Amino acid sequence: MNNKLYGNLIFELSHPGRKGYSLPSNDFESHPLPSHLRRQADASLPECDELTVVRHYTNHSANNFGVNNGFYPLGSCTMKYNPVVNEEIAALPGFTCLHPEQPASTCQGALEVYYNLQKALSALTGLSEFTLNPFAGAHGELTGLMVIRAYHQNHGDYKRTKVIVPDSAHGTNPASAAVCGLEVVEVKSKSDGSVDVEDLRHLLDDGVAAMMMTNPNTLGLFEREIPEIAQLVHECGGLMYYDGANLNPMLGKCRPGDMGFDVMHINLHKTFSTPHGGGGPGSGPVGVRKGLENLLPSPRVVFEDGTFTLRHDGDAISVGKYLGNFSVIVRAYAYILSLGKENIKMVGPLATLNANYIKESLKDVYELPIEGLCKHEFVFDGLKDKSTGVTTMDVAKRLLDYGFHAPTIYFPLLFHESLMIEPTESESLDTINGFIEVMRKIAEEATTNPDMVKGAPHNTPIGRVDDVQAAKHPVLTYKQVKALS
Ligand SMILES: *Cc1c(COP(=O)(O)O)cnc(C)c1O
Repeated sequence: MNNKLYGNLIFELSHPGRKGYSLPSNDFESHPLPSHLRRQADASLPECDELTVVRHYTNHSANNFGVNNGFYPLGSCTMKYNPVVNEEIAALPGFTCLHPEQPASTCQGALEVYYNLQKALSALTGLSEFTLNPFAGAHGELTGLMVIRAYHQNHGDYKRTKVIVPDSAHGTNPASAAVCGLEVVEVKSKSDGSVDVEDLRHLLDDGVAAMMMTNPNTLGLFEREIPEIAQLVHECGGLMYYDGANLNPMLGKCRPGDMGFDVMHINLHKTFSTPHGGGGPGSGPVGVRKGLENLLPSPRVVFEDGTFTLRHDGDAISVGKYLGNFSVIVRAYAYILSLGKENIKMVGPLATLNANYIKESLKDVYELPIEGLCKHEFVFDGLKDKSTGVTTMDVAKRLLDYGFHAPTIYFPLLFHESLMIEPTESESLDTINGFIEVMRKIAEEATTNPDMVKGAPHNTPIGRVDDVQAAKHPVLTYKQVKALS
């Protein structure tokens, strides 16, 4: 609702002296703060009545779009449904009322959840042991690379400073390597989108600390040459790092540990269903193969003599004082248990089936640069008919008019008009068919009425923003005006 009464900014609704509360009179003596600790002038806060505040935020929230509003096929993000049972369990007082400093003997149940999730992740990935301390996928990458660096340094091998990253990698891979103080070396992709093993051979020497890979990769393709790649990297003394953000299509089908990876991270908020987007909350557990367990960060949850305890190992790396984002950990464990051992094996195949169904149903009207079976996601290179002038940006904006969230656009950078679609396993056939129908309709509109598509969106509260201006001259502060006073 864009009614002026409800305003775009709460400050615009402010009236001096108006209040949304009343406090009882103070029967106690007052103790003013010393003047040097006080503001010189009152803070500039909005002054509104309670109902205005409620309407303002309720109407804003109605402009938001999430998985609970509609289909959200944002590639690389695994926007699956987050079951309500996860929320109910994560909200139990026994979990929410914990204090991070309370003795382990008083929170055995919470530590058991933590420990059991570590074990479940090991079973699902084939790695020996996990830490749940990192707060996001990128934080897991950094943690994993710190483990790898510690491994080489423990062997007295200080010259290994290079990390090999495919050119199709998610941007966090080179960023994490750089933050870890390592040097990023790019390996090319072949025209079929997979890592070019010949190019890799030339990059391998005794300066290589690790190779980072995502499988299926950012194009949604299964990297078939991993056994050979892992052998080459191991032969030159490097370790294999698996970016597990795309673990979803693998669940129940194959395990990174069996493919020769030494260290990996998982995005619990993606694969194991925590509401995410807009920056959090996340969790990026890191797993290692047998022999590397002692390099995992401290503190660790261990089970000894029938008790769960926290082990603080002074020499180990540390990526956070406590045990990570506990509510995300609880949600992930609830999700795994509610699916169960057998059903969880259906996650990957169903996500893969949905992606392939959409791809095959649209490839006559959208350009499919890489043919063949994909995993959980795939990339179109814009509309097939380029003569209309309708771009990927226009298609994405028009989708909003039809009540669908846009796919990921202009990523990966390998194509000019990338449109990256990831449906996940949680969508019904009706929703997927509805999406296909709308995508076909937009392709038709691009021919019959291209200007209308280029002017989209037409039905959203805000039209097309000037993204060049927003990137070059961002306005990050609000100049206060007293709109109604
Ligand atoms: C999402 C993603 C990441 C980063 O995870 P965050 O939790 O956003 O830090 C890394 N790699 C890939 C392939 C991803 O899709």
